[in-house]
Amino acid sequence: MDRPKERISTLISKEELDKRIKELAAQISRDYAGLDLIIIGVLKGSFIFLADLIRHLDYHVCVDFMGISSYGASTKSSGEVRITKDLEQNLAGRHVLLVEDIVDTGLTLRYLVDALKARQPASVRVCTLLDKPARRQVRVAIDYYGFIIPNAFVVGYGLDYAEKYRGLPFVGVLEELDEQTD
Ligand code: 5GP
Repeated sequence: MDRPKERISTLISKEELDKRIKELAAQISRDYAGLDLIIIGVLKGSFIFLADLIRHLDYHVCVDFMGISSYGASTKSSGEVRITKDLEQNLAGRHVLLVEDIVDTGLTLRYLVDALKARQPASVRVCTLLDKPARRQVRVAIDYYGFIIPNAFVVGYGLDYAEKYRGLPFVGVLEELDEQTD
């Protein structure tokens, strides 16, 4: 039988995610009450977080998505940012909340926030499920965060490793196991 190539250990349980996302949604509902809010998800990693978040908001919001290239099959950041799918909505004069799965070096977020601000929105704020500050290379403002995590590569709840593990209901640390030859 093939040896497993990776091992995953739970970092944030489904129960902890549910509780924190309800708290974030309550805070966002209060902060944007009565405003024209558009929530922008960064594909693909944020789609599960975004889906759960908006279902706990007190009112209906407009949702749009931006596609961006990420790590590919590697666990190291290339720092390369490329838009693979642009927005359908016009942002001029509207309040924008950018929803990210994780902020690591901050390079992706810096690029996205600058790109969104250029479209003349009324405001741009950032909500990330996970904040991994240990490897930050550029200063970025994070307005709402779910959890601050240690310097490890995580998967699950939308986050992948080579397109695997997005469907896990928890966030886990992925460990690559050494190839062993018999
Ligand atoms: P940054 O530009 O901040 O270095 O990286 C942001 C993007 O890198 C995230 O949106 C995510 O796609 C990817 N990324 C960073 N850290 C991790 C991680 O621990 N696990 C996974 N699956 N993706 C990560």
